[in-house]
Amino acid sequence: MSENIKKTVNQFVKKHHITTVNYSVLRDIAKTIGFTIIEFNAIFNDKDVETIIQNLNLDECTLRSRGFTYTDKNYRLVFINEDLNDDEKMYVLSHELGHIVCGHYTTAPVIGRDVKEEYEANEFSHYLLKNNLLRNLKIAISEHKRMAIVLASVLFVILGLVVAGLVINKEKSYYGDFYITTTGDKYHQADCIHVKNHNNIERLTREQFESEEYKPCGTCLPQG
Ligand SMILES: [Zn+2]
Ligand SMILES: [Zn+2]
Repeated sequence: MSENIKKTVNQFVKKHHITTVNYSVLRDIAKTIGFTIIEFNAIFNDKDVETIIQNLNLDECTLRSRGFTYTDKNYRLVFINEDLNDDEKMYVLSHELGHIVCGHYTTAPVIGRDVKEEYEANEFSHYLLKNNLLRNLKIAISEHKRMAIVLASVLFVILGLVVAGLVINKEKSYYGDFYITTTGDKYHQADCIHVKNHNNIERLTREQFESEEYKPCGTCLPQG
């Protein structure tokens, strides 16, 4: 039983793209499924509301109920007591939506006497409102995830630029393709006998070249 109601709530949430449940969201959903919300006062009502209540013989309902639904051939109405605060209205409306979604209104215009139906409507309301916190959390997490991915991408790009910049800088800092030994003062071509197979070889930097401390080797005649 509960599993069925859970499924019904999940389908309802999906169908109406519900991300957060509050009174205003539920009002909009009630409207989209063809119901008019009427906020009533147990003691005194505007003429329009009073007329509807009288015509449909709902006097007793408005006296004893925080909210109820009325359906017949012409009307699909959800009555909510206007003295409730928004959280209470949300609770009442979620219960009424439970009745509507579970199809309780096919048998009688006003319901509230069938224990099984009340239980189902309460279950519907319970799951719809209970999941609210979880849904908000999921949304928050997925938004943070998106943010984290964006941040990570930006960092990755920056890192890439830094690395590329270093590589370019390093390449720029060399002068030609010449080599020196850590002990000598000549620079050589890569295949010169004075550097080939030596292990104290460094590549000639632009700085070293411009310092004029290194002269071209007389054997390999490097041309810069
Ligand atoms: Zn009910
Ligand atoms: Zn040489």
